Amino acid sequence: RKGTAVITGASSGLGLATAKALADTGKWHVIMACRNFLKAEKAAKFVGMSKEDYTVMHLDLASLESVKQFVDSFRRTERPLDVLVCNAAVYQPTAKEPSFTAEGFELSVGTNHLGHFLLSRLLLDDLKQSDYPSKRMIIVGSITGNTNTLAGNVPPKANLGDLRGLASGLNGQNSSMIDGGEYDGAKAYKDSKVCNMLTMQELHRRYHEETGVTFASLYPGCIATTGLFREHVPLFRLLFPPFQKYITKGYVSEEEAGKRLAQVVSDPSLGKSGVYWSWNNNSSSFENQLSKEASDAEKAKKLWEVSEKLVGLA
Ligand code: NDP
Repeated sequence: RKGTAVITGASSGLGLATAKALADTGKWHVIMACRNFLKAEKAAKFVGMSKEDYTVMHLDLASLESVKQFVDSFRRTERPLDVLVCNAAVYQPTAKEPSFTAEGFELSVGTNHLGHFLLSRLLLDDLKQSDYPSKRMIIVGSITGNTNTLAGNVPPKANLGDLRGLASGLNGQNSSMIDGGEYDGAKAYKDSKVCNMLTMQELHRRYHEETGVTFASLYPGCIATTGLFREHVPLFRLLFPPFQKYITKGYVSEEEAGKRLAQVVSDPSLGKSGVYWSWNNNSSSFENQLSKEASDAEKAKKLWEVSEKLVGLA
């Protein structure tokens, strides 16, 4: 049978390119889990996906209620869940003030981390029940949260501190930043990506042996043309793609990045659990090292416990 992969944020950028790459193999049915139904439907048509290869379903990660509704609707389709890809993200580098999710969490961490945290915990049961030979859960990470890299050292750097801001609700009353500091939109995004990478490793430690599910993260390369940079100043958006292409040489096209993520979904040689995948300049994959903070097992455990409380699982 065809595999079923749920991809969050498949209406643009990396998520869309991955959905297209998987659909093109003829071996996958992709559930495009998106907040904007019409945009997702148009995007699928635009890249030439055929109707039998995808289903658009509503998911707004900035609402825990929507996450629960998505899980219910997915279960009603009676499709098995073989692979979950947590890909969606918001990035607000120029925001002066924080904005908040439906439950009142700072938007970047609320969407990128807490929404996906609840989604992945609820759908783990569905993954367990699938009889697919290689079941996987993938959370898209980033180089920017990894302070052991050049890109990860561009200020403001990711830092979760002792998680005091998160533990106090991340609602702007005490703080809207995980470390309890002043709001900084670029840092909030990087922090959320560290959370994504820590969550993947904690899932691996807790569930890989028991369930056989492969948990993985990746940095697909700098896809400088996606909608992620939509809120950046115009000059940045103009100069960032050529800068990445010619100066850092970290640039990848959306199509190439989509192929990379599709490999993590289905390539038999990328089936190892607990790995953060990256690609070198000739596009071959390798197991990359995470920064000290992004591989801190103590912090991963604490993040797990605090996040469980915030999303109502504990
Ligand atoms: P895009 O902005 O193109 O895609 C982000 C997707 O997330 C969109 O489909 C967007 O939906 C969706 N989304 C945002 N908020 C929500 C929400 N509340 N509920 C549901 N979906 C939501 O960016 P990219 O493709 O670049 O980003 C994809 C992933 O890649 C992210 O995890 C990002 O951190 C990661 N990444 C990107 C890099 C890059 O260089 N671009 C580098 C490293 C990692 P909508 O279309 O409705 O806006």
